[in-house]
Amino acid sequence: TPIAPFVFPGLRSRVIFGAGTIARTGAEVERLGRSRALVLSTPNQEADAHALADRLGPLSAGVFTEAAMHTPVEVTEKALAVFSGSGADCVVALGGGSTTGLGKAIATRTGTDQVVIPTTYAGSEMTDILGETAGGEKTTRRDASILPETVIYDVDLTLTLPVGMTVTSGLNALAHAAEALYAEDRNPVIALMSAEAIRALAEALPAVVRDPSDVEARSLAQYGAWLCGIALGGSAMALHHKLCHTLGGSFGTPHAETHAILLPHTVGFNAGAAAGLLEPVAKAFGDTPGRGLFRFARDLGSPMRLADFGLTEADLDRAAEIATRNPYSNPRPFDRQQIRSLLQDALEGRQPP
Ligand code: NAD
Repeated sequence: TPIAPFVFPGLRSRVIFGAGTIARTGAEVERLGRSRALVLSTPNQEADAHALADRLGPLSAGVFTEAAMHTPVEVTEKALAVFSGSGADCVVALGGGSTTGLGKAIATRTGTDQVVIPTTYAGSEMTDILGETAGGEKTTRRDASILPETVIYDVDLTLTLPVGMTVTSGLNALAHAAEALYAEDRNPVIALMSAEAIRALAEALPAVVRDPSDVEARSLAQYGAWLCGIALGGSAMALHHKLCHTLGGSFGTPHAETHAILLPHTVGFNAGAAAGLLEPVAKAFGDTPGRGLFRFARDLGSPMRLADFGLTEADLDRAAEIATRNPYSNPRPFDRQQIRSLLQDALEGRQPP
């Protein structure tokens, strides 16, 4: 097959991968030419954040543990006050996408460096994208100052990720790879990474569900999630991410769960128009891409119905309207009626085509 012209955005962050690598945080802060790190976390991971600050010793400027989903600007403002009050000159974000988001929000306002230590599979650490909420509205932007400088993937920190969150966060990661395969601006390097990511997660997630303390399987899952993050940062996302953004932003549905429920439906919807491109999905999960993903998610015990998160048919009327208001690229053209019907299937947990 001929190689179509493409743009590859490059690999732009330093990555340290492996068990026990959290011990290298101090050295990585110093490598950036920084000497006082504000450690960030959510309230849930407060103990881990304090342990990391203790480990950093004089390189720690303190701890801020109020990171929250969707990066509310009020939290960012409070964190900025702590950041400048403590004399910090960089941030270390320890946690999932919510904590990474706070680090990005501080970095883009101050120009500081970020070291991110991800503990979920969300992939935000590999992107220059920041979503923030103010007055109930979520806005998203891209900027070079948002991309973290250094990322430390220490598998040991993922061992405590509960099985339910492991599954939904893993499916969230898979969504990045799936949409990268058919992205309008796709390129062969990210396609390779996406196919490898799908292979890794298809093998790793069932193994982690069987034994959440299986370090090898956890490592493979984290490796896959890393590649998915690169795919997300380097590609224009389509219908799937647009719908998840609408449901999360306007109806407050939880991030990873929304991705997990919608993925078989959105990929199923696009499968006919992107059949060749979605081959890695068909290869990993069998059947059609939509049905294969549906069965994979169900067998992992993933939530399958939007109705279980309080969404109603009236919400879906509005969601379909919001999600089709502005045009964006997608392999299969669609109208409001088709999106409404896709959402109905996801509401009820019906098997996609
Ligand atoms: P999260 O960061 O909100 O984490 C969910 C909960 O799990 C938190 O309470 C957290 O403390 C806890 N947790 C995380 N890791 C844990 C672990 N290993 N053990 C025990 N508990 C753990 O969830 P998320 O799905 O990682 O992130 C979602 C947020 O990230 C959303 O706001 C989303 O918009 C954003 N996001 C942004 C991008 C981007 O590129 N900008 C990409 C993906 C996600």
